[in-house]
Amino acid sequence: MMGPKQEAQAALFYEFSLEDHVPQDHLLRSIDRFVDLDDIRQYLAEFYSHTGRPSIDPELLIRMLLVGYCFGIRSERRLCEEVHLNLAYRWFCRLNLSNPVPNHSTFSKNRHGRFRESKLLRHLFEKTVARCIEDGLVSGQRLAADASLIEADANKQNSTPKEDWDHNAIDPSDAPRAVKEYLDVLDDAAFGAASKVDPKFTSHSDPASQWTAARKGPAFFSYSTNYLIDTDHSVIVDVEGTRSIRQAEVGSVRIMLDRIKAQHDIDPERLIADSAYGSGPMLGWLVDRHIKPHIPVLNQASRKDGTWSRTDFEWDPENNQYICPEGEPLKQFRRNYSDPNRGPTGKGVAKYQALKHTCQACPSKMKCCPNADARKITREEHEDARQVARDIAKTKQYAISMRLRKKVEMLFAHLKRILGLGRLRLRGPCGANDEFLLAATAQNLRKLAKIFPAPQQT
Ligand code: SF4
Repeated sequence: MMGPKQEAQAALFYEFSLEDHVPQDHLLRSIDRFVDLDDIRQYLAEFYSHTGRPSIDPELLIRMLLVGYCFGIRSERRLCEEVHLNLAYRWFCRLNLSNPVPNHSTFSKNRHGRFRESKLLRHLFEKTVARCIEDGLVSGQRLAADASLIEADANKQNSTPKEDWDHNAIDPSDAPRAVKEYLDVLDDAAFGAASKVDPKFTSHSDPASQWTAARKGPAFFSYSTNYLIDTDHSVIVDVEGTRSIRQAEVGSVRIMLDRIKAQHDIDPERLIADSAYGSGPMLGWLVDRHIKPHIPVLNQASRKDGTWSRTDFEWDPENNQYICPEGEPLKQFRRNYSDPNRGPTGKGVAKYQALKHTCQACPSKMKCCPNADARKITREEHEDARQVARDIAKTKQYAISMRLRKKVEMLFAHLKRILGLGRLRLRGPCGANDEFLLAATAQNLRKLAKIFPAPQQT
């Protein structure tokens, strides 16, 4: 039998509980148990005026931002609409049906103002990491690092080639916020001072972003998000935004390792990374701190003409010499200097050479040094650390580490595909850092929610 036609009737009174209408297994119910914003008002107190109109509750704004980053809602305007209409979002934001949703413009005012000045977003991220540590998800022993390019909110039509770009011509008093931030970070190792090479193009709207063709496709403006993760449960223990060039990305790992030591007292046993992090200075820095570098060594000693490279010669540390494949020594000094400063110092580039008459009589000369009288080899300052990394690369643990390294890449894939962070919405280094921090916080919260789901009530 066909039922009566459904008619919408405006009821005068409703008996309605949001709590009853949010499904027990909704992701936000699990996430909510790990969001601790009790101290946020106290944390921000000094950034609010004592007079004037009462502000929107900062906890509400942060909860809305978390909803946006957890569910890939990139536009603040759309976020406000979604929170207005979605019951689960309202429940998470502590809004009942009659409470108004803040205007989207409130976000930009708070983000660029008190949230940034107070470093609130980093505070929230650190609290999430602390929670992961407390719940036993972080052992802090096997860490992995990597960087990923995120497209900046800039395009080539609005840019200047390097021949015509002069940052001294910018008037800071008349510049937009992103341009002022660019001028502020010109001497910062993560941005302006990372390289002396000027980028091919510089964006007018976001000059701190890097013009790059690193993805082997069409070039674009980008920032890099650098993750340091604990490989036990893929928890992001630190995140840092940099310019998209290798020097800045490698430098950020040092900053992050120092910061997690200071913040969470994490002393990793090993660091896992790809060959971009395998330069001598980086390996030396890790070995000095007793962190095992599970990193492929960046080998610039290989030869393309088929002759023997440095790796074919055996290092003899006791006698400070190399032994060639024919068993002859290559020495740095062949006499004792009375002035010790002229002798081996162990620092800088050292040159080692075989004896001329030995090489001239050698049957392997054509394979070793066909165009020279005697074979010469240079030894870089951090060669000992490189050797440590080479020795680690022969172990079983290294093979395990190379598999664990994929976990960072999976987090980047999740960041772009599920959280929708393929292109930034905020400009400038601070905007990029804010987005990276919120996205990493959302990823950690989702991780906690997945491992410890909310108990189902009957
Ligand atoms: S050419 Fe000289 S250095 Fe090279 S293998 Fe022969 S003896 Fe050794």
